[in-house]
Amino acid sequence: MSTEKIPYKIFLSEEELPRRWYNVRADMKKKPAPLLDPATGKPCTPEQLSAVFCDELVKQELNETDPYIDIPEPIIDFYRMFRPSPLIRAYCLEKKLDTPAKIYYKFEGNNTSGSHKLNSAIAQAYYAKAQGLKGVTTETGAGQWGTALSMACSYFELDCRVYMVKVSYEQKPFRREVMRTYGAKVTPSPSDTTDVGRRILAEFPGTNGSLGCAISEAVEAAVSTPGYRYVLGSVLSQVLLHQSVIGLEAKAALDKYGVKPDIIIGCAGGGSNLGGLISPFMGEKLRGEADYRFIAVEPASCPSLTRGKYAYDFCDTGKVCPLQKMYTLGSGFMPSPNHAGGLRYHGMSSILSELYDQGLMEARSVEQTSVFEAAEQFARVEGILPAPESSHAIRAAIDEALKCKETGEEKTILFGLTGTGYFDMYAYEAYNNGTMTDYIPTDEEIAASLAKLPHIG
Ligand SMILES: *Cc1c(COP(=O)(O)O)cnc(C)c1O
Repeated sequence: MSTEKIPYKIFLSEEELPRRWYNVRADMKKKPAPLLDPATGKPCTPEQLSAVFCDELVKQELNETDPYIDIPEPIIDFYRMFRPSPLIRAYCLEKKLDTPAKIYYKFEGNNTSGSHKLNSAIAQAYYAKAQGLKGVTTETGAGQWGTALSMACSYFELDCRVYMVKVSYEQKPFRREVMRTYGAKVTPSPSDTTDVGRRILAEFPGTNGSLGCAISEAVEAAVSTPGYRYVLGSVLSQVLLHQSVIGLEAKAALDKYGVKPDIIIGCAGGGSNLGGLISPFMGEKLRGEADYRFIAVEPASCPSLTRGKYAYDFCDTGKVCPLQKMYTLGSGFMPSPNHAGGLRYHGMSSILSELYDQGLMEARSVEQTSVFEAAEQFARVEGILPAPESSHAIRAAIDEALKCKETGEEKTILFGLTGTGYFDMYAYEAYNNGTMTDYIPTDEEIAASLAKLPHIG
């Protein structure tokens, strides 16, 4: 602990890089519900999961008891290139807001993939390589995960096949080209290269695609190609485990200066960055050692936590994946096409869903024009052009800081700045032109989607 003025950037040294990931499930008294086999309604066995996922990742997915899992040395070596990531004190934003609140953010955009997703991509590629596999398949929406996985696969010399949601494939050609530069094969989804893709195309001709649909195609491609497995960039518990490196570093950096956050905020798509950021802090809360407020921020156009149902659902549109109990809007839910800000997955991590259900975490939804207002305000004073996804967290952090201004409370706020927005300039263009609109699904739309949830038990 130190009494000197806290610097703008708190860096950890390479030697302070975490050597173990933290598995928050170990400290949860009531664990997240198990993945179920849709055919039998019984918990998936490791053997079933191993047909889809790498063996070591199946072990991590099912591990609810070990609080710490060693990070293999080759992954640490890769992390050294871009980690530890900086923890930044937002002095300039605080001044601009004229708030007594103290705001910190953990910046994960300092790598070519531009987001936190590389933290898990490199781990998943490592375990695939260690198992002697030839390659992996995956889906990507906005493209950050596909980019991260392409980088990780090229590092370990693995084939990488990415099914990219068609609308992004067309609207984000630069993301696509980054992936191809790293050697990935990128296919717009739905495609005619898989049975499920052909089925979806026949049912919905001219569809723009969705994440759920791209997942189905990637899983089919993995299980039907020898030497391949499927990998996923969010939602799964193994991904939250890998992303715990964010929270472990943030906590170590704050501890150096004796700073304890009151409120910890993250944007929530599938839940991996938020889960990773809050995990070590949540562990303290679960063990009764400290208390924090946690806030998940989601788009009003895809409000799985705030308006979804806690139930078993399919993880994908094609219904080929295991069933997961989670807050969901229904696997057929499609966010409005005018929604620009990512975070469009219909469900949520089972860990975060369970923590939210137990009242250990709060959630709120925000509209996209107010998200871009926050992004603009942040970019103009803090100098980083944030990803639209990350800007959901910025919105909530600013709102909390403004509340402190009213009450005079000097709260300490920590939020996750997950990435940069350079490939999202169409969305910024719509915002700058004043043509960006908000869309909030009606209760009827959500009810119609939830009516199609599978009946379990
Ligand atoms: C993918 C992504 C997210 C959302 O994913 P989570 O799994 O919810 O973390 C947030 N921010 C950025 C920059 C992303 O690329």
